[in-house]
Amino acid sequence: MKATFPLLGYDTYALKTFVEDLGGEVVLPPATSKKTLEAGVEASPELICMPFKITLGNFLEALDMGADTVFMAAGARKCRFGYYHYLQERALARSGRPFRLIPVSQYSPYAFLFRLMPVTFGVSPTRVIRSVAVMFYKAGLTHEFRALLNRRRALDFAGTERLKPRALELLEAARSTSEIRAARRSLRRLLGCNGSRPVLRVGLVGEIFFMIEQFANGDIEKELARLGVEVVFERSLLHHLRHLLHLDWSFYRSRRLARRYLRECPGGEALRTVGEAIHFVEHDRVDGIVHVYPFTCMPENIALEALQQLTEDTGVPVLSLSFDEHTSRTGLQTRLEAYVDMLRRRSRERSISRD
Ligand code: SF4
Repeated sequence: MKATFPLLGYDTYALKTFVEDLGGEVVLPPATSKKTLEAGVEASPELICMPFKITLGNFLEALDMGADTVFMAAGARKCRFGYYHYLQERALARSGRPFRLIPVSQYSPYAFLFRLMPVTFGVSPTRVIRSVAVMFYKAGLTHEFRALLNRRRALDFAGTERLKPRALELLEAARSTSEIRAARRSLRRLLGCNGSRPVLRVGLVGEIFFMIEQFANGDIEKELARLGVEVVFERSLLHHLRHLLHLDWSFYRSRRLARRYLRECPGGEALRTVGEAIHFVEHDRVDGIVHVYPFTCMPENIALEALQQLTEDTGVPVLSLSFDEHTSRTGLQTRLEAYVDMLRRRSRERSISRD
């Protein structure tokens, strides 16, 4: 089997480790690019969400590189994500490439551990559980790497960019729990900041794919770091895996907090977006909230209204950025620069009024 799956930013490495640990060969698509998006857009229904188009582009490119088996997450609550794999299978079939698509239901952990993975890879459930544990551990390392990178880059952008390829090598190479432990120590040494903190911090919230895939969000964490802003975040593969196993306490916290503005769940990740924003404002004392989501995403458009209310109640500015295939990188940078200028002014005014 030559397996492929969508690229998920830095978290791609944890998924790759999981499949390889089960004995599969992984054919990763090339880094997502304009070409990937164009291929995905051409093969997709016009009004479908951006994550569908980007991941379909990933699959087309991976199949061209020799992959024969596509893994795609499936199952969603009150959201069209549940239909992604079905429509993508039809689009791939229309492309004439040979493949088999395996939908991985997100909300059936027991079927995943005891049936789907053992049957697909011809291994025992115990082996699957061990590989899931390693993936968890690696997802934790990736989460920490991203946090370290965001802080250090905001303090020393050019220096950290020089260190990043080495850090990514460490991340990718760690495949067992002992290697992951060693990589964690090395990453802390490489990217640690000795307690220094950037002057400005923002909380990143939004739809999960746009939170973790750098091409999709215009590499927003890097762009903000270039402007001297640290991005704090919660959403990552680590939290998503915990959530699927009902072990993510932060999800329950977000759901409770979000009730102040959203009584009902409008689907997708809206409750989480709003709850995380409130948490960042109240506990992490961020200077602003940046909200990223696909243009046609109904749940996040509803979350947007709630976030505007949050700004009215707390005074913390929210920058909501929707993305589609026409979003320009220059336009994004201009909006970020204007937003960060405003945050800087507010921060100066606050420190003057404190003195
Ligand atoms: S959360 Fe939004 S972008 Fe994602 S599948 Fe649902 S509607 Fe589409």
